[in-house]
Amino acid sequence: MQRTHELFQQAQELIPGGVNSPVRAFKGVGGEPIFFERGEGPYVWDVDGKRYVDYVCSWGPLVAGHAEPDVLRRVQETAAKGLSFGAPVELEIEMARTLCRHVPSLEMVRLVNSGTEATMSALRLARAHTRRDKIVKFQGCYHGHVDALLVQAGSGALTLGVPGSPGIPQAVVAETLTLPYNDADAVEQCFDQHGSEIAAVIVEPVAGNMNCVPPVPGFLEKLREQCDRSGALLIFDEVMTGFRVGVQCAQGRFGITPDLTCLGKVIGGGMPVGAFGGRRDIMEGLAPVGGVYQAGTLSGNPVTMAAGLATLEKIAAPGAFERLEATTTQLVEGLQQRADAAGVKMTTNQCGSMFGLFFTDDAPVTRFEQVKACDLDAFNRFFHAMLEEGVYLAPAAFEAGFVSLAHDAQAIEETLAAAERAFARV
Ligand SMILES: *Cc1c(COP(=O)(O)O)cnc(C)c1O
Repeated sequence: MQRTHELFQQAQELIPGGVNSPVRAFKGVGGEPIFFERGEGPYVWDVDGKRYVDYVCSWGPLVAGHAEPDVLRRVQETAAKGLSFGAPVELEIEMARTLCRHVPSLEMVRLVNSGTEATMSALRLARAHTRRDKIVKFQGCYHGHVDALLVQAGSGALTLGVPGSPGIPQAVVAETLTLPYNDADAVEQCFDQHGSEIAAVIVEPVAGNMNCVPPVPGFLEKLREQCDRSGALLIFDEVMTGFRVGVQCAQGRFGITPDLTCLGKVIGGGMPVGAFGGRRDIMEGLAPVGGVYQAGTLSGNPVTMAAGLATLEKIAAPGAFERLEATTTQLVEGLQQRADAAGVKMTTNQCGSMFGLFFTDDAPVTRFEQVKACDLDAFNRFFHAMLEEGVYLAPAAFEAGFVSLAHDAQAIEETLAAAERAFARV
């Protein structure tokens, strides 16, 4: 690990913590982050030439796998015609049409450059539309690093033990109400008290930033019901779940239609992207039709659109998602069997191609408190043992895992064989 160590030393001199996003640092698991050189299919290679089966998939976007040939071809063809125009291009329409076709709640979309931008803009729009200020979010859900949403947030914020952040004015978060995930009673009580002031409820319909926690039956239904009753908007943050838990996203899978939907990750196929959309009457509140200002120099970038469209084509192909979900089930069940056989207390969650490993015997894991009570040391030992074995898991116990269409029988077998040896060392 000579080269990766050297690069990390250099990076730390020039970039805070040596990383451009905190979850990449190995703060939670200990050790140093690995610098990668290339990826192909389900595999990545680090700068020292070691190969890993990858279950991070760039934190979700690479649902088609690394360096997928059709995706690369579309990107290269598009890039050859120019990288950006700052003016409309036809690929934006193709992307908008594709998203509206697959995602039940979308009548119109606005394309942006990150998931953070999507949630930030959706909040502004929801507040303008309802002429209310309060926002409801859930503990352990992460919606990007938006000031108003960085309250009891998940993912890196949670891993670093700072689920809020210094630098956010009290006044900005004063309008954010935070509730326990999967707790329908808490939602009802909150609405009884504040219903007429709530602009929107924002939720990850499958929580993926506190490990992987699917909604319990009735939870999303309760959100829809309370929003309808009070006139608040329901925002599904599907930046992670979009095209990861189904081609119709979580809203199709669970049959609950939000008013606004945020997307990102998969729809850019590995390029920087975000999107938000929903009902036409709400979306037409955006400038230049309405007064809600939102803009982006590189939004709808043609190269991003090309990567995203080619990726969406792969995942929406007949039978593709079913195959991906079956592969994920095979992986998750295989890991469970091997943990059980080794006497390691571990339980799993899965939704579509997202999965979570929890080092606890308190199954099923449905609440944030349970996630926090898991044996972090056991996870960290497992993480490092797997890394040594050539399997790259997310370097934190509070992150979901991702499988891609490129994960074939051989990659899964390799992973399970590695896990058998790793569990023996946990
Ligand atoms: C990743 C993520 C975001 C933030 O997206 P960025 O592109 O990193 O800004 C927002 N919400 C959810 C649910 C995410 O998983």
